[in-house]
Amino acid sequence: MRITQARQWLRSARRIAVLTGAGISAESGIPTFRGPGGLWRSFRPEDLATPEAFASDPVLVWEWYDWRRGLIAKAEPNAGHLALVELEERAPAFDLITQNVDGLHRRAGSKNVICLHGDIWTLRCTVCSRARESFQVPLDPRPPRCTCGGLERPGVVWFGESLPSAAWLAAEEAARNCDSFLVVGTSAVVMPAGGLARIAKQAGAKVIEVNAGETQLSPMADAALRGPAGTILPELLALP
Ligand code: NAD
Ligand code: ZN
Repeated sequence: MRITQARQWLRSARRIAVLTGAGISAESGIPTFRGPGGLWRSFRPEDLATPEAFASDPVLVWEWYDWRRGLIAKAEPNAGHLALVELEERAPAFDLITQNVDGLHRRAGSKNVICLHGDIWTLRCTVCSRARESFQVPLDPRPPRCTCGGLERPGVVWFGESLPSAAWLAAEEAARNCDSFLVVGTSAVVMPAGGLARIAKQAGAKVIEVNAGETQLSPMADAALRGPAGTILPELLALP
């Protein structure tokens, strides 16, 4: 019943916004931070994905990113990513906001993607902030130096850092002005991204959650659909 109702909301929406998290890429073989396989050499992501960790041990953090880039390079978009490409094609207006850094939405064919947490395939200078693409796998054993002499770091947003302001403003605008807000595979504990669903709800949108488990957002969702994104999203769109 709930899925039928949610399908109807998506069909009638003039504007749809989607927020995705690590869960949508889990079925592509990329571990979430808080699920199975999230630990690397017994380190918690919260202890590695910080500017302090990079400042105190850049090589360790670099090796972790090298491992993650290796996993992502081998991964393919799954049925969940592909369903969102289809949804973008059907919707009169559509924004895909992602907390993921893996680039799988773009590889699947999504066009309007707002990357709230950066992109693992970019490097950024810690001194002059110059950014560049890098698809090298495996990485060199040590982080490279920028032409200015500064150390380069992964072009992602770490815990304790603020979001890129243009991406955040675009995400907030999309949440405030959509009729349906679909939240997929995110624990919603990482703020401020987790607050987008509340912004959408307060502005009158229907909030539809797709997640393998219960989250902090589930109680406020108008429909909370349980199960893997690769199964639920195609069902939600009534794809064959
Ligand atoms: P999270 O690890 O906190 O939560 C993942 C959520 O996905 C959980 O609620 C879990 O129940 C759900 N989930 C797991 N498998 C699922 C599936 N098959 N279908 C549907 N739901 C599923 O991740 P988060 O909320 O994205 O936040 C953590 C941070 O980690 C983000 O900032 C993100 O940038 C980063 N991260 C990104 C990647 C990636 O780019 N692929 C991977 C790990 C972490
Ligand atoms: Zn520099």
